[in-house]
Amino acid sequence: SMASPALLMRVVASAYSVAEKAATIVRNVMSAGDLGIVEKAGPNDLQTKADRLVQMSICASLARKFPKVTIIGEEELPNGDVSEELIEDGHCEEILKKPCPTQYTGIKEEELVIWVDPLDGTKEYTEGLLDHVTVLIGIAYGGKAIAGVINQPYYNYEAGANAVLGRTIWGVLGMGAFGFQLTEAPAGKHIVVTTRSHSSALVNECITALNPDHVIRVGGAGNKIIQLIEGKASAYVFASPGCKKWDTCAPEAILHAVGGKITDIRGNPFQYNKEVKHMNSAGVLATLRNYDYYASRIPNNVKESLVP
Ligand code: AMP
Ligand code: MG
Ligand code: MG
Repeated sequence: SMASPALLMRVVASAYSVAEKAATIVRNVMSAGDLGIVEKAGPNDLQTKADRLVQMSICASLARKFPKVTIIGEEELPNGDVSEELIEDGHCEEILKKPCPTQYTGIKEEELVIWVDPLDGTKEYTEGLLDHVTVLIGIAYGGKAIAGVINQPYYNYEAGANAVLGRTIWGVLGMGAFGFQLTEAPAGKHIVVTTRSHSSALVNECITALNPDHVIRVGGAGNKIIQLIEGKASAYVFASPGCKKWDTCAPEAILHAVGGKITDIRGNPFQYNKEVKHMNSAGVLATLRNYDYYASRIPNNVKESLVP
């Protein structure tokens, strides 16, 4: 008989279904109308009922199937039983059928760390900018982001009633990424995508120094990586602390799986082992192509202002 699928592929296949359940919760909370907004660090650092329910759903669902995996979620929530209706026990059959890259076939549960951003782009969610929102499940091994799932619950929401609402993008290093059409950004143009709601003088100074043809300001780290892999932007530039490991893990795995590159603003790779500091203190620089072009134009004083 066939050997059972490798652990990594079982985790990704489950994370896919868990992210789809999460997207349903995100949409249901919005349509019910009571967002239950709580300020965390301040008015630009929010948590809603969707952030809370989705994190419970993702973490409890994955922990039940993979009890020895370390799961780190963004939200601080009280311990306690998670309602059965939040549990997803399905998986994506198509993912399970794909062969695991050989370098990952021997991975054990206790060696994986899963970084969960239950709702990335919360500020925009509360303002009705719904297509900025993503659900991020990043999978790390040996300190590296090796697989990820990004669900966009409101993909197509302005495309009319006949369009399928929502999509799930997933990827594994050494395998590629799926669920979207890889598209190059316009050749010879420098289109920078950056934060919409967490700007600062340094963020803007850094962008100005790159002399871009166009700047796109949108919410969400997941959303901005999607802009890179779909050719809407040529670089994601964020010269500020604020972004955390759960924001970058799934996006990083998917971007790297298609040949892109993400680092902090100084060019250092991110680490995703379970002991790591959560904050990406030295910002974010990501591209699908031409990473070196952007990296070489980040001003030294910007780099020196951001300490990893
Ligand atoms: P943004 O591009 O502003 O949507 O940020 C990407 C991710 O980093 C989101 O999850 C934000 O919540 C988070 N983030 C960035 N800057 C800050 C900040 N100053 N305070 C809190 N969260 C931040
Ligand atoms: Mg986030
Ligand atoms: Mg979040």
